[in-house]
Amino acid sequence: MKYVIVLGDGMADEPIGELGGKTPLEYAKTPAMDRLAAMSEIGMVHTIPDGMQPGSDTANLSVLGYDPKIYYTGRSPLEALSIGVDMEPTDIALRCNIVTLTEDEDRYEDRTIIDHSSSEISTEDAAVLLAAVKEQLENDIYKFYVGTSYRHLTIWKNGNVVELSAPHDHLGQVIGQFLPENKVLYEMMKKSYDILVNHPINIDRKRRGLNPANSLWFWGAGTRPALKSFEEKTGKKGVMISAVDLLKGIAVGAQMENIIVEGANGGLHTNYYGKAMAAVKALLEDGKDFAYIHVEAPDEMGHQGNLQHKIEAIESIDAKVVKTVAEALDASGEAYRMLVLPDHPTPLRIRTHSADPVPYMLYDSTRPLHSDWLYNEKDGQASGNYVAAGHEMIEHLFR
Ligand SMILES: [Zn+2]
Repeated sequence: MKYVIVLGDGMADEPIGELGGKTPLEYAKTPAMDRLAAMSEIGMVHTIPDGMQPGSDTANLSVLGYDPKIYYTGRSPLEALSIGVDMEPTDIALRCNIVTLTEDEDRYEDRTIIDHSSSEISTEDAAVLLAAVKEQLENDIYKFYVGTSYRHLTIWKNGNVVELSAPHDHLGQVIGQFLPENKVLYEMMKKSYDILVNHPINIDRKRRGLNPANSLWFWGAGTRPALKSFEEKTGKKGVMISAVDLLKGIAVGAQMENIIVEGANGGLHTNYYGKAMAAVKALLEDGKDFAYIHVEAPDEMGHQGNLQHKIEAIESIDAKVVKTVAEALDASGEAYRMLVLPDHPTPLRIRTHSADPVPYMLYDSTRPLHSDWLYNEKDGQASGNYVAAGHEMIEHLFR
């Protein structure tokens, strides 16, 4: 038996007036999913435990079978794993943003944070700036690592999980009251400003009308997640196919192989077909039992508030991922189960994640059902099937 999860990030939504009260999943033309849905178990699954943030981190841990209440130790440790930093059990990972503060005040504490992403600085520019900071601030206790764009990493040896404020929560506010209580972290942020404010890259950025990346900002402290090996836990050899660092980090933590697909970029025009074929190859040629195909596009389109593009992303997942995988596995004669679901809704109305249950479709090629269900939120609810603990969903796939 082969097993596939097709994870359309943020794909679930709410009924939308413009679509005659249909959700994007209901409205989108999805012939491949429609065909399978009529032979599948349809239902709803609650991926976000009560009281937890509806993040892609908590939600995807759930879908992979790791209870976030037990295994979630913060986002930055997962990002650390994804960029290949092997954390010690006593290490603390800190997200190290490179942010924009106002420059007219005398004291660091009186500055206002105006951009948590420094105009979405390029990784190239950020790497130069981080190197300048590193030269003066790095020592045996604090190490700096380049991530992507404004998102970098600091590892704190024998550190503590201290409370820190997320920079994007305080845009437009004076930073004094949001700075770390920990004196060393506080001083490092302050010194980073002195190092960066007149750096040639920032002088050039201002000339080009871009926000200068003039301070570090630490937040999101967490310890190394102690995920059990996916293979030990499930007995299945699995692969992860995703363009997103966070998902790759989860896979590293779970000791699953990450497959890098050319042209897979987390955007609307990602290489859907390439991802599907990578899963097919892993299952049929490389002896793997399980493939997790993560597609970021519907979530991004939800954050952008772009209805047409969200529908297009769903249609691409149908035509290029679900159809491709199902046809290839059908043709191979291998028995398989395929689970299609989002991690969480990203409703266009709110342009961010919600913690509501999401619809799932579970197809078993050896036991096709006969129903009139389609794969969407409405039919998921009407089916009466409900998985209350998201991390148990994978047991339905593997049972
Ligand atoms: Zn997500």
